Amino acid sequence: MTRARKPSVRYVYHFGAPRAEGGAAMRDLLGGKGADVAEMANLGIPVPPGFTITTEVCAYFMAHAGGYPEGLGEEVAEHLHRLEVETGRRFGDPLNPLLVSVRSGARASMPGMMDTVLNLGLNDGTVRGLGERTRNPRFALDSYRRLIQMYGAVVLGVPSAQFEQALAARRGAARVSADHELRADALEDLVREQREIVRAATGADFPQDPHQQLWGAIAAVFRSWNSPRAVSYRAMHGYPDHWGTAVSVQAMVFGNMGDDCATGVAFTRDPSTGAKRFFGEYLVNAQGEDVVAGIRTPMAINGTAESLEARMPALYGQLVEVYERLERHYRDMQDIEFTIESGHLWLLQTRGGKRTGHAAVRIAVDMVDEGLIDERTAVKRVAPEQLEQLLHPTIDPADAPAAVAQGLPASPGAASGRVVFTVERAVARAGAGERVVLVRSETSPEDIDGMRVARAILTSTGGMTSHAAVVARGMGKCCVVGCTGITVDYAAKEFHANGRVFRDGDTITVEGSTGKVYAGDVPTVEATLDHTFDRFMTWADRFRTLKVRANADTPEDAVQARRFGAEGIGLCRTEHMFFQEDRIDWVRRMILADTREARLAALERILPMQREDFAGVFRAMDGLPVTIRLLDPPLHEFLPAQAAEIDALAQRIGVDAHALALKIRSLHEFNPMLGHRGCRLGITFPEIYEIQVRAIIEAACAVRAGGTVVYPEIMVPLVGLRAELAWLRALVVREADRVLALLRERIDYTVGTMIEVPRAALTAAEIADVSDFFSFGTNDLTQMTFGFSRDDSPKFMRAYIDAGILSRDPFETIDVDGVGRLVRLATEEGRRAKPSLKVGLCGEHGGDPASVRLMHEIGLDYVSCSPYRVPVARLAAAHAAL
Ligand code: PEP
Ligand code: MG
Repeated sequence: MTRARKPSVRYVYHFGAPRAEGGAAMRDLLGGKGADVAEMANLGIPVPPGFTITTEVCAYFMAHAGGYPEGLGEEVAEHLHRLEVETGRRFGDPLNPLLVSVRSGARASMPGMMDTVLNLGLNDGTVRGLGERTRNPRFALDSYRRLIQMYGAVVLGVPSAQFEQALAARRGAARVSADHELRADALEDLVREQREIVRAATGADFPQDPHQQLWGAIAAVFRSWNSPRAVSYRAMHGYPDHWGTAVSVQAMVFGNMGDDCATGVAFTRDPSTGAKRFFGEYLVNAQGEDVVAGIRTPMAINGTAESLEARMPALYGQLVEVYERLERHYRDMQDIEFTIESGHLWLLQTRGGKRTGHAAVRIAVDMVDEGLIDERTAVKRVAPEQLEQLLHPTIDPADAPAAVAQGLPASPGAASGRVVFTVERAVARAGAGERVVLVRSETSPEDIDGMRVARAILTSTGGMTSHAAVVARGMGKCCVVGCTGITVDYAAKEFHANGRVFRDGDTITVEGSTGKVYAGDVPTVEATLDHTFDRFMTWADRFRTLKVRANADTPEDAVQARRFGAEGIGLCRTEHMFFQEDRIDWVRRMILADTREARLAALERILPMQREDFAGVFRAMDGLPVTIRLLDPPLHEFLPAQAAEIDALAQRIGVDAHALALKIRSLHEFNPMLGHRGCRLGITFPEIYEIQVRAIIEAACAVRAGGTVVYPEIMVPLVGLRAELAWLRALVVREADRVLALLRERIDYTVGTMIEVPRAALTAAEIADVSDFFSFGTNDLTQMTFGFSRDDSPKFMRAYIDAGILSRDPFETIDVDGVGRLVRLATEEGRRAKPSLKVGLCGEHGGDPASVRLMHEIGLDYVSCSPYRVPVARLAAAHAAL
């Protein structure tokens, strides 16, 4: 505290009736929570008063090893005093104590990732005063034991489990099943025991000084910005570390003072489907964390006999009025937290609600129809990644066996996998390539890594707003919660579902759209897209300039791609056609042939099949361009490796097994990805490429005769030298023109190359001279630019990311500074040499939103990705343009 304070800088902002010092526009400084609570106060919505310490203080705290800027202490003291005046209570006053909560709040919500402490200001003296003032000593003690537990865990680092065990023991001794059934004397004993736990673990007493409590909690919230789970969440969502969190200190209101009290969480529309209905959950006589922690399963807010609507109709009416006002004000679906204290409604929080992809699209479209937002805003409201969920499979009800259990449908999709009960196991098994389903009684933020690698998440307790539900939805991951028909036994590593036992490693299927759980691997069906989705995508298409094609190797994939809106095929990998059962042995004969004649004879057998494939793809893409890549992989990939398979092949094709094994061994390569593949095959075995060109041209002529409009684009892979491409271009043109002359036809075809070898990118101008188009093969380009093997890098990638050496896997999101720079350079130099050069990208990055954004910026003509990612890329391209 030595630096002078600039007079203009302030670190603390008040909120409360009738106006707050901040508002929704100050999100960067006050965090989402602080900004929105201020905004609510300004709208006249009842919020408990308080103040927010800015994110700048967090930045200072992190940069100064936990120190605070000069003057902060005085500012907090002034605001605390103002709060005392406003509430008519005093912090630490034994007769009429002010209690406060301390909450985190970053710019974007990070549910459950950082820490919160409630009921600060309670000690041995004030607990008595609170009990007398409220004539409810039980309530005061319940609040105190919660404070000691929360403060103990969050600020002092005492394991929560120790407090939970003490609590469970008290429940056992009192023969009750729920915490709120514990009587005052039991709670008094519990408080004593908890304080002993604190003393034993920390060597010091639970702090009795409320100011010490307050500053302890503030520091803990700032520290929690850098907790492993918060860091992991930020990395996953791409939030920068420098944002920091704000801290809001707010007067406590209590949902746990008796049966005329309640607390709940609600969404202004259904976060799972997007339906326009007020949707939420609440608990009577409880504090906020009880609802979200999934410890008690909450009740629906409306529509049932135990709902808030039925039990407290007037308050429910007020809540409806508030939510409608908030939704109209923010013009977006809100996630709100409320507390009812002795018949008085308080709003604690509002924020844009997390929603599934389905809900995001539906809400965006509905809000346009309701006149709340325009189409441009609607398009921006849906994250491209979210669309993938819409394309997720479901289980065909006709095929479904009887479900073994039914829970709440928390996040859609359907997935099977092996049961795991712990994060460690989930990570280990998924790392070994298995599909896992994480099964827990409930999840907590420590489970985040396990949730990330799991295909689905299943919990026995918790509601639609529980941690598991919220986090899974954010991740777009299939999830069922509150599955009360199952009991999880961690010690025995099994769960019981209505009389059946499922052990660690057993396979189950979880359907997040219906809440059903099935034994075994149940087949799934593909998603169907509805009219709402089509309308939304039409708006997105209106804004984008980058075209989106698909990578598709078969006529079926091409049909699917077109349904998803592909504007052509950007990559048809012909080798995939070779693997089909009816042709693979001819491909092998071709590879094993010792003479050109024998090779040609085998190729002649492959030709008609390949022609049929191309014809099917052309027909599916009637009127749109189709880029067909000539053979790329090393030839030994088509040959068997195991002795038994080699023997069987020898028998089938009538050759000596020993000779065959020797031939296969002779094709072995030490570095196949840098070996005899790509255009190198075309140069050593020109007849392979010639046959492929013939099949392409004959197919194009044949389908055109049937009325299909074709635009074949013939693509040469793995080129690094102008001379390679010049040589192969001459071959392609010679063969294509020979076939056309023979057929007396004319087809406009083009010949281009992939840019996937760094040398090609660096000499793009020369290569453009002999190329009609470029298509960046960023899979190989990434591999060769980094020198990271595409196949082996997963073994070390995690360590690179954990160590902060890389922030993302460059095979998923393009490396801007290296690979991205090569793409930019090659595009610019290629176009400078040949202005008509068409430029696209067909590596996996074509379906990654961040990479799509970069390609838009560089000015590519199109990206091409797997059919399922086509809508994602279309929306990402629209966002990039907006
Ligand atoms: C690439 O390398 O990016 C590419 C699209 O080709 P493949 O993945 O088939 O090597
Ligand atoms: Mg490649």
